[in-house]
Amino acid sequence: MSDPYAWIEQSLNTIHQARWHRRVLAIDGMAGPVVQVNGRRLVNFASNDYLGLAGHPQIVEGAIAAIRLYGTGSTGSRLLSGHRVLHSELEGAIARLKKTEDAIVFSSGYLANIGTISALVNHRDLILADEYNHASLKNGATLSGATVVVYAHGNVEELANLLAEHRENYRRCLILTDGVFGMDGDVCALPEILDLADQQSAMVMIDEAHSVGVLGKTGAGCAEHFGCSGRSLVQMGTLSKAFASLGGYVAGSAALIDFLRNRAPSWIYTTGLSPADTAAALAAIAILQQEPQRLKQLDQNVHYLSERLDYLLADLSFKQAANFKRLPTDSAIVCVQVKDAATVLALSKKLKDLGVFVSAVRPPTVPVSRLRMSVMATHTSAHIDYLIAALKDCLLDDA
Ligand SMILES: *Cc1c(COP(=O)(O)O)cnc(C)c1O
Repeated sequence: MSDPYAWIEQSLNTIHQARWHRRVLAIDGMAGPVVQVNGRRLVNFASNDYLGLAGHPQIVEGAIAAIRLYGTGSTGSRLLSGHRVLHSELEGAIARLKKTEDAIVFSSGYLANIGTISALVNHRDLILADEYNHASLKNGATLSGATVVVYAHGNVEELANLLAEHRENYRRCLILTDGVFGMDGDVCALPEILDLADQQSAMVMIDEAHSVGVLGKTGAGCAEHFGCSGRSLVQMGTLSKAFASLGGYVAGSAALIDFLRNRAPSWIYTTGLSPADTAAALAAIAILQQEPQRLKQLDQNVHYLSERLDYLLADLSFKQAANFKRLPTDSAIVCVQVKDAATVLALSKKLKDLGVFVSAVRPPTVPVSRLRMSVMATHTSAHIDYLIAALKDCLLDDA
């Protein structure tokens, strides 16, 4: 008899040969703009902790106080086992931030997406989705059983054509898009998408994972950034990036949220967010509101890094410059495209040796490899200068 698991080793070999194999880096100590790895300090450009809150004492104390008061687990599904007042306080705080009637908190952003999409549409319905959408939106779309039609990244004209062509053949229609695209850093054309949706009676669901706590005057995300907060739309986001905790949410009309409490399987059939995570997210939203200068500092840091990268890339020899390209950004994600997976991997390794943690993102996650830098409000200009100096060393070394 042949070993029914033998294919796994073969598959792994293929993954290695394509240089697609990844492993996890173990980090010691507190989250922050500088982290410890094997006793070495690394300036950290690989964290989604955009506001620099994951090690904030007020949030740590909030989480500890919630554990002391309520214990560690939330002991069951909220519908069956009940929830803590903290859960509704957090949902209230999210709704106020997003200026929506209500909000529902899921145990992760991933669960928020798969549960919400499969509650909103089924096999009688149509989903139109940006090709660069996050995996959780894609998986949610597949799980829902709806017909999924993908439009080219950011191509509103193609979206309009697809709507005109297909909309009438389906009962409901849902347009799915990331707010900020996590592997590129650009932003979706929300006002245009909402206009099209209005014309064709389509729902819109936006994933604000990389935009809440980053974009908008109060950090409410893309909807606020574009002045679309008052329009009908399903605003999903995560508590695990700028809000330094774990969990996801959907904000929208009272009817939408009540419907999700009754129909989203990934909310109904899973354990509620732990008291510590709930309290941490509540404290993070409070700090965002108390310290709006964090948003400004984050924006300044993104501009400073982008500018320094452009100077550096402009200094490269003609031959080398063709291999590197900074992608335009509207967010805290700054990417430099690198011609192939082997080069980006070597660069990221060399940067680590020089004391900088930058992720190398490769196919199949993205079509073209890139160095992906996430900026934090708590990076200093010295941290950014250090990254630029290290990158300069790598690129000149390479010439
Ligand atoms: C991170 C992320 C998620 C998942 O959120 P988690 O809370 O980490 O599960 C969903 N969508 C996008 C665009 C993300 O970047």
